[in-house]
Amino acid sequence: MSTLLEAALGYAARGIPVYPAHWPRPTPSRASLACSCPRGPECDRPAKHPLVRHGVKDAATDPDRIGRWWRRWPQANVGLATGVVFDALDIDGPAGLAALGELQEAAGLRLPGPLVATGGGGWHHWFAPTGLGNRPPRGLAYVDWRGRGGCVLAPPSRHISGHSYRWLRSLDQASLPEVPAALRGRLDPEPATATQRARTTGPDTAGHAYGRTVLEAELAALGRAMPGHRNRTLNRTAFKVYRYVAGGILPEEQVTAAFTEAARAIGLTAAETSRTLASARTAELANPRTVPAGPGPTGKEAG
Ligand SMILES: [Zn+2]
Repeated sequence: MSTLLEAALGYAARGIPVYPAHWPRPTPSRASLACSCPRGPECDRPAKHPLVRHGVKDAATDPDRIGRWWRRWPQANVGLATGVVFDALDIDGPAGLAALGELQEAAGLRLPGPLVATGGGGWHHWFAPTGLGNRPPRGLAYVDWRGRGGCVLAPPSRHISGHSYRWLRSLDQASLPEVPAALRGRLDPEPATATQRARTTGPDTAGHAYGRTVLEAELAALGRAMPGHRNRTLNRTAFKVYRYVAGGILPEEQVTAAFTEAARAIGLTAAETSRTLASARTAELANPRTVPAGPGPTGKEAG
């Protein structure tokens, strides 16, 4: 099985709709690459547009259909529908990175989720879906949002430059985070004053954002645990997060699911994981924590 087909089936198995896209093909002289479509070197979206008639609307998770596509076009790039399992923040090269860097600095924005280096010198940060459609985030040049109805190419697709899309942090290494508030604020429709007020001052919303930051930081710490320390780290990190469940600012179901997934990713067995989580939960539900007044968590392990 080709790595392209294998990757396509892997995305589909996660529920991500997949479609085949044109690919970069050596020109007859072999001196350069051109789009595999009939326009070849004249194509204005080389190796980026769909092979199927309705594009992303034809995207599928059915392994048989996907198998047929890649048997017909074994070199096809792997296109994914956004807005279903994930949304993507599309950073167009160094200019986009600079714009995002300013926001990161100003807002203490952390982006710990799955991350792709595109073959064209840009980046895709993946997030849990927002329900929003494609749109440029306000005030961020060279940055775009791919949501409902949108699409991205995914590893191991190849760019017309000859470089491949590749994971810097894969779906096995990081769970899909919620969009941080500082970024979400630039995606939501222009200020309905009431929603803006709720977002900045509503205690529940603020608490949930803080809780999610804690959850993300502890999941990241768990992901870094060395062999031999993994179960203990699961206990310690889950212990911290369940305190916020007890404080009412994180939903227990979401926390348990996130830790179960992260524990599986680092190789802990289901039995070990559920035992450890049960004990951390019991210990900490008696010891609730709410949002502290001081600075937020840094994402570093406390030790
Ligand atoms: Zn083309």
